[in-house]
Amino acid sequence: MKDIRSDLHACTLCAQRFAATATMHQPNPVVWFQPGARLLIASQAPGMKVHRANTPFWDASGVRLRAWLGLDEEAFYDRSRVAIIPMAFCFPGYDAKGSDLPPPPVCAKTWRKYALAMVPDVRLTVLIGGHAMRYHLPDFTTVTQAVRDHDTHPAGTFALPHPSWRNTGWLKKNPWFEEEVLPRLRTAVAEVMT
Ligand code: SF4
Repeated sequence: MKDIRSDLHACTLCAQRFAATATMHQPNPVVWFQPGARLLIASQAPGMKVHRANTPFWDASGVRLRAWLGLDEEAFYDRSRVAIIPMAFCFPGYDAKGSDLPPPPVCAKTWRKYALAMVPDVRLTVLIGGHAMRYHLPDFTTVTQAVRDHDTHPAGTFALPHPSWRNTGWLKKNPWFEEEVLPRLRTAVAEVMT
């Protein structure tokens, strides 16, 4: 297994792309994984707060995600048990409406298989949002379908909507998520964390 973390920290492949956004920021890969982790959070990309804090899910989305998983901050940020590997390791910038841009595809093409190879002991994968679902689920169609069909995914895989406040409307429209999916998810998380 090749340890890519130093090279990943130093990656500047998207420097020009980020310099052309409104925030004109520099690449800042948020690297949060190590061998031995049993729970994989396969997420989307850092937001601005995470970019500044250098800590994944250090924002309101993280508060909601930890509640969904049934984990406190100490457990969630324990890299010996939890790996957080997004589809892009850097904040992509904002679009014209002020939403985060999608993760640059070059990141997953360049780094993802090597990052995943560094966590061979993962027993539970939690996919966050459509970009991660498209990568990990061969039969992906829509986020709602993937979240609802949690029984049909490869063993040890859950699909979740992004925990952003932007999905609060989705959560209200789909009460089965909190009633049916979250209890099963928390049980699965508790099993791999102990
Ligand atoms: S998003 Fe990925 S590929 Fe682009 S600079 Fe950051 S680490 Fe490199």
